[in-house]
Amino acid sequence: MAPRDDAWREELRQALSARDRSAIARVVMPALDPAYRITCNEEVNRGLDREQAVIEATRCLDCPDPQCITGCPVSINIPGFIKNIQRGDLHSAIAVIKATSALPAVCGRVCPQEKQCESRCIYNKMKKEPVAIGYLERFAADTARNEAATDAKAAPTQREASNGIKVAVAGSGPAGLSFAGEMARRGFDVTVFEALHEIGGVLKYGIPEFRLPNSVVDAELDSLRAMGVRFVTDTIIGKTLSLDDLLADGFKGIFVASGAGLPRFMGIPGENLIGVMSSNEYLTRINLMSAGRGGMTPVASGRRVAVIGGGNTAMDSVRTARRMGAERAMIIYRRGLDEMPARAEEVRHAIEEGVEFITLATPVEYLGDERGHVTAMKIQRMTLGEPDESGRRSPVPIEGAVDTIEVDEVIGSVGVSPNPLIPSSVEGLEVTRRGTIAVNEAMQSSLPVIFAGGDIVRGGATVILAMGDGRRAAASMSD
Ligand SMILES: Cc1cc2nc3c(=O)[nH]c(=O)nc-3n(C[C@H](O)[C@H](O)[C@H](O)COP(=O)(O)OP(=O)(O)OC[C@H]3O[C@@H](n4cnc5c(N)ncnc54)[C@H](O)[C@@H]3O)c2cc1C
Ligand code: SF4
Repeated sequence: MAPRDDAWREELRQALSARDRSAIARVVMPALDPAYRITCNEEVNRGLDREQAVIEATRCLDCPDPQCITGCPVSINIPGFIKNIQRGDLHSAIAVIKATSALPAVCGRVCPQEKQCESRCIYNKMKKEPVAIGYLERFAADTARNEAATDAKAAPTQREASNGIKVAVAGSGPAGLSFAGEMARRGFDVTVFEALHEIGGVLKYGIPEFRLPNSVVDAELDSLRAMGVRFVTDTIIGKTLSLDDLLADGFKGIFVASGAGLPRFMGIPGENLIGVMSSNEYLTRINLMSAGRGGMTPVASGRRVAVIGGGNTAMDSVRTARRMGAERAMIIYRRGLDEMPARAEEVRHAIEEGVEFITLATPVEYLGDERGHVTAMKIQRMTLGEPDESGRRSPVPIEGAVDTIEVDEVIGSVGVSPNPLIPSSVEGLEVTRRGTIAVNEAMQSSLPVIFAGGDIVRGGATVILAMGDGRRAAASMSD
């Protein structure tokens, strides 16, 4: 699709010299003003307009050996879609992306592009800012979605004739959704079972509205429904329904995509105090149960909030705390800013929103009052030592350097483990030492009827990897 030697692409390459194209400055994503955005939940990034997108697409050099593609976990034909944006053919642009990615409007917003495709763009070697591939992906997906919504004739995604074979999915996060879409396209009769009352997994209960609006996820769900995918909520596989129930019900294959939603704790004194909780609990209460927006589920909203960790979950929590009214919202992270695993844009947005970063520090104890409420935390100052197995320099405590900070809420984001229910409840299902489901290259488990993918196989990973697993499992199960 969109071969590089098509006449129109050759024409675009000839139209402007590489020197002129590389002289164009990278587009800046329009964003809400920080002072305003911390007062609401509106999406921070506003998206490119058509003119900005075409100019940014013009920067792309349409390289003969495009390394950006090798940086994308699902190998999207990046120059193929970008050049279609440049020539104004958005239908072809989105078709190129959808050939390998099921949720482009989501990925354009949440993928860590600076570590993936954009890190391999030739512009980096030229000491210039890479092409804004993520912004362009989002532009193509949003424009296609908006046009489909207003175009009564918009055709639903093509699917093969029904083969009548029933398959089940446990979990409705990106892995389950991409598997469901791919199987439905191949003519299978797909039912997705979800433990919670909402479909979408972390896309709904984890990542906040100000970064990924629910309407974006809902549009993707609508297109799956239009393809015949059925969703059953409030159903826990392994409890409400067992594997045997599903087999007895005529399901011929099961894809387990139950994620890694089990929060880890640090095991330090005071973790049981009131006001100390996991990001998982905090974000789920706010995003899924309307806590803080007049819903029935309460959540404490502290004035001095400390969030422990440096990943996306930590950034989402601390920025949410700021929106919930925290006067002092702090990130406590044991390494330095440069080592933070969060997307660079989230860190930048958090800084703009007045979040304080206390780096090279880790909590060692939480202190409480006579009613059991957290009031302060002791933090151990650290320095960076030798690199560990992840290649990042390890934090080492500085002897005697312990400080106390006043807090009235602490949110822990120090990692997650696989949801244990399915791995532990299905006899004969091989599980790794980390509690993840063991699968082969085809995403098939030790039980031939069960395939698995996403965080339940990888531990906490990324949306695009979960989606890629779903597609790979669908390809192997349907073979
Ligand atoms: C706050 C937060 C922010 C993140 N930010 C980013 C980001 O910016 N970029 C990025 O790429 N990644 C990000 N991630 C990671 C990413 O969201 C996950 O890697 C991805 O969602 C994993 O997809 P999944 O489909 O495997 O699982 P999940 O999205 O976790 O979905 C699993 C679903 O299965 C359901 N379930 C569990 N057990 C059962 C059962 N027994 N029966 C039925 N249903 C069950 C769960 O309720 C859940 O809905 C973030 C994660 C979090 C928590
Ligand atoms: S590496 Fe950069 S310039 Fe080259 S094709 Fe990819 S996005 Fe375009």
